[in-house]
Amino acid sequence: MEQSKIAEIVRNYRLTEGEYVMRPTMPALEDYTSYLRGIWDRRMLTNDAVLHQELELRLREYLGTEYLALLSNGTLALMIALRALNIDAGEVITTPFTFPATTHVLSWSGVTPVFCDVDPITFNIDATQIAGHISSRTKAILAVHVFGTPCDTAVIQAVADRYGLYVIYDAAHAFGVKYRGRSIVEYGDMAMLSFHATKVFSTIEGGALVCRTPAQNRRIKLLKDFGISAESEVIEPGINAKLDEFRAAFGLLNLPRIESEIASRKRISLIYRERLMGMPGLRFLPVLDEVEANFCYFPILVNNSEFGMTRDELNDLLRECNVMSRKYFCPLMSRVACYVALPSASPANLPRAEILSNQVLCLPIYGTLQVSTVHQVCDIIEAGYLCQRCR
Ligand SMILES: *Cc1c(COP(=O)(O)O)cnc(C)c1O
Repeated sequence: MEQSKIAEIVRNYRLTEGEYVMRPTMPALEDYTSYLRGIWDRRMLTNDAVLHQELELRLREYLGTEYLALLSNGTLALMIALRALNIDAGEVITTPFTFPATTHVLSWSGVTPVFCDVDPITFNIDATQIAGHISSRTKAILAVHVFGTPCDTAVIQAVADRYGLYVIYDAAHAFGVKYRGRSIVEYGDMAMLSFHATKVFSTIEGGALVCRTPAQNRRIKLLKDFGISAESEVIEPGINAKLDEFRAAFGLLNLPRIESEIASRKRISLIYRERLMGMPGLRFLPVLDEVEANFCYFPILVNNSEFGMTRDELNDLLRECNVMSRKYFCPLMSRVACYVALPSASPANLPRAEILSNQVLCLPIYGTLQVSTVHQVCDIIEAGYLCQRCR
């Protein structure tokens, strides 16, 4: 786009204050200080204390699941999942279209990631291609419900059952999502959640691991606390993945607000869709019948030849207008230096993921985002589109 046209759009539409892709949900400060009073009175700051126990219980109720361990972050939840399933060598089949943590936990656990291409509609691992990547070294499938859209869990489970593999879901984006009438965390052998400040439900830093059996649950609780049993015996090499009382309090205050947070995000998502739908060359996540979504992100795909601008040009334009859109997930994990040499990282193995990561752009969405700001973001995109059209 010509520099003069960009300058004109910036002049007309620039936001006076920077707008981020997301802002954390904050409880009222007075409510938080009353929890602090309790923590000060009890002088129990961490180690499975009362607020930790209460949040764990509330999360089990809200998510409709039996076994859930609260942890200090989602990354450690994934590492503990691998350890609890004794996956410490061999290969795990996974997606390149994700946040670095998904791939890094495999590397930290001595496991080789094997990248499988994605489904172009849902952006999730293409379940039908998984079998083609299985070798004698394959231990598990680590799939991500990207942007909260459920993976093809039935096909993934069928492949896993046929070849005797574990299924672990990175459900960092999928808090509160329901699929085919069930909580998303009920799928697979284990499901990880992240409660990082940027996620739909937050404890500032935090996470959880959902499993299926009392034995797995006991093992996870052991692993998160240095491998020390209730009798103070050291059973195995554990790690420290405990969530403290300050963060548990933050979570206890945010949890009752989750439904209204998701409802606000849904409204914003509908405005984006309505405003942007008429512009050829933009594509959105599908609205799926069997999914109760959480609207955690609002990604758009920008098709250069139809839209008239590349994703990077649109991203630059938005940023000049003070809208901090983000290229999630670009680069693919198969393109970063530590994994690029893997045989499965070759672009020829991942043609759809390559296109996706070149087209995707996430727009601002969070509960307290002003409707007027959503319209301003759409105005900028529209102005860019029209400007390219009238050349
Ligand atoms: C946020 C995120 C993680 C990491 O979770 P933390 O709680 O930040 O450790 C892992 N995977 C995905 C897909 C994420 O978005």
